[in-house]
Amino acid sequence: MANTIGAPARWAGFIDALLDPVWMVELGALHIVAANAAAARLFGVPASGLLGRDMRELAATPADEAQWADVQTAPAEHGPHDSQPMDSWVQSLDGQMHPVTLRISVLAHGPGAGHALVSARPRDTEVALREELDRRVGELQATLESTTDGILVTELSGAVQRFNRRFAELWALPASLLVQRDDAALKAWLRGRVVEPGVWARVQEHWLAGPAQAVVELVQLVDGTLLECVSHPLMGAGATLGRVTSFRDLSERQRAQREIDRLQSTDGLTGLANRRAFSERLALRLAEQQARSRGAAGAGGAPARGVALLQLGLDRFRTINETLGAPAGDEVLVETARRLEACLTRSDLLGRVGGDEFAIGLADTDMRGAEAVARRLLGALASPFLRDGTRFTLTGSVGITLLHEGSADVDGALQQADAAMRRAKEAGRATFRFHQARHNVDLRERLRIDHAMREGLPAGHFRVHVQPQVNLRDGELVGVEALLRWTDPVLGEMAPSRFIAQAEDSGFIVELGQWVLDQATAIAALWLREGRSVPIAVNVSALQFRQPDFVDRVAQALDRSGLPAALLELELTESILVDDAADAQRRLGELARLGVRLSLDDFGTGYSSLSYLKDLPLHRLKIDRSFVTPLPEACRQAAIVQAVVHMAGALGLEVVAEGVETAAQADFLRSAGCALAQGYLFGRPMEPAHLAALFQEGMPPRLEPPARLESTATRPAPLGHGSSNGNGNSRTVRRGAGRGLTLVKA
Ligand code: C2E
Ligand code: MG
Ligand code: MG
Repeated sequence: MANTIGAPARWAGFIDALLDPVWMVELGALHIVAANAAAARLFGVPASGLLGRDMRELAATPADEAQWADVQTAPAEHGPHDSQPMDSWVQSLDGQMHPVTLRISVLAHGPGAGHALVSARPRDTEVALREELDRRVGELQATLESTTDGILVTELSGAVQRFNRRFAELWALPASLLVQRDDAALKAWLRGRVVEPGVWARVQEHWLAGPAQAVVELVQLVDGTLLECVSHPLMGAGATLGRVTSFRDLSERQRAQREIDRLQSTDGLTGLANRRAFSERLALRLAEQQARSRGAAGAGGAPARGVALLQLGLDRFRTINETLGAPAGDEVLVETARRLEACLTRSDLLGRVGGDEFAIGLADTDMRGAEAVARRLLGALASPFLRDGTRFTLTGSVGITLLHEGSADVDGALQQADAAMRRAKEAGRATFRFHQARHNVDLRERLRIDHAMREGLPAGHFRVHVQPQVNLRDGELVGVEALLRWTDPVLGEMAPSRFIAQAEDSGFIVELGQWVLDQATAIAALWLREGRSVPIAVNVSALQFRQPDFVDRVAQALDRSGLPAALLELELTESILVDDAADAQRRLGELARLGVRLSLDDFGTGYSSLSYLKDLPLHRLKIDRSFVTPLPEACRQAAIVQAVVHMAGALGLEVVAEGVETAAQADFLRSAGCALAQGYLFGRPMEPAHLAALFQEGMPPRLEPPARLESTATRPAPLGHGSSNGNGNSRTVRRGAGRGLTLVKA
């Protein structure tokens, strides 16, 4: 036969007739001696190409190789026999592997010779496919079972095809439904588990209608579980076969979210609402109250009541932390929270809104109701605390504000209560204060001013004016005081009395004061370069003075400007001694060593204790205007001024009288021994250029002696005009007769 290659010829016709690939192997050399056309196709060679090939070389797997070695060495007495069919592979000459089932039949076995007939049935078409399918189904099943989602597969008819174990868990399927297929019972069970049958009906509709896209529904179960159901079309051979619906348990996530919300709204230490949560709840209470009030008004009911907001701050709580330690402080806060809670009803709100501050919201109440609660809260704090064997009492201060209809601003209310609480503290603590509308206006005004100041400095809205200081004996100019002026484009001309205190509160005074220092030293340095030696006095606020690098800053300002230290005077007030007198004294010493002169401003308005003066390196006292204005008639002020002048003389200090407006005042001061003065009588604060212009008239400039002043000077404009009117200031000092002063050449 053409397709049968080689011997033994008696098998050749038979091999060729077979459809499966078959070949014959001579067992001595293990060479192929015959093969049919199907075998040649399987190996991918021309029919003749197989003849003479060594079977061991053709073996595709080590198992095959071992098999051939066994066959070759099998004892002859075994006689003809078949091997067990085995799943193996044939590698065609192009390298491809073909799955086959091999059977080797030993036909005759003589010593050293014999033949084996090998048949190979290709497996790829049926068996391999089925195996692959089984494998994939197994994988899919494992995947389904291992997901944390419940999975339900339905046919387009709505019949249930399968579900996984997680599905059974989520829906709490009873055992009966797991062992026996019963679609009707299963669906009835599912229906019975959902809270909203309407939503569930929609999910089932998707199974039947089979929309092409995924559909998501949220289903709440009767046991509280919240399921997210996502159903996808199940596709096969290009057609929709059914739907796969996955069920994800969102309850855990929901619980986690709720826990996050709770943590975010709770104060970790006391468990009370924190500031944010308290504000939100208060806003809710307010809305409810407003609805209630409208209802009452509509029904002609009782006059509207409101929501009261109380803020309670512990007095001197810092001391507890400092003496007993922070953990004890924490315990006190927790106990305070419990005590306050015990004073309130369930409908009242309580929160911790600051380190040692609590807020209380009372609905449907009025001033008297709020006051009663405030007293109760303060009373609850009154009984002693006991920590680590130490008994101590704690007091609190309470600020109260009432939110009536229309006032929806909860943050504003918190600020009002806070401001009222601070007033309670100022009033001596352990008490309560009601919010007063004016304070709130003040607060907003202050914010506006603060903002305008911070913008105004770089924008060039501030200027420095100078006011002459004269020798009362001959009117000679002995120096000037630098005074800050501010013209805001919107707020207009702002007097220092309106903004200095606030700049001190906000801390902006440090920056502002530094700017004045730089300006003032530059002004005096310029005069000096022009040949006029005029000392300049600069006001320094306590906060500015307390800056750790204040002395350096002064030295730097002198360096920058080139002004000798002796021409700079710093005007300080007694407030620098309040916090740390020792530190202030040390710093004053450093400044004095620097060579700058130091004066005590507004003397008489502070502690008025003269005893400390002898320890301070001061050069001057400035008697406050409030003592000068009533002179010379007021006996008491006259006596005080007299005493101050004497005492200063004993201490070797110069005295400057401030706010001298009339010749009579000047006369009195001169006769009392006061050498120096400053006031409208001699010159209002003015642009430095104006004073410089007056210099042009002579060197050194001298103000007209008071004796001649008496005849020309009249009382100038009322208080405040001078300091708030930059333009008018310069007019006071001018040449010639009339109101004010005359500057004369030396
Ligand atoms: P002060 O340091 O006692 O300044 C004297 C104040 O009295 C100035 O008010 C001045 O214009 C005013 N004055 C002077 N002579 C008369 C007079 O005859 N009659 C009347 N009625 N007033 C007179 P001003 O400029 O309004 O300043 C007020 C306060 O603001 C100053 O009082 C000072 O404490 C503060 N201040 C002004 N400039 C600065 C500054 O640059 N830094 C700091 N820290 N405070 C400043
Ligand atoms: Mg001053
Ligand atoms: Mg003063």
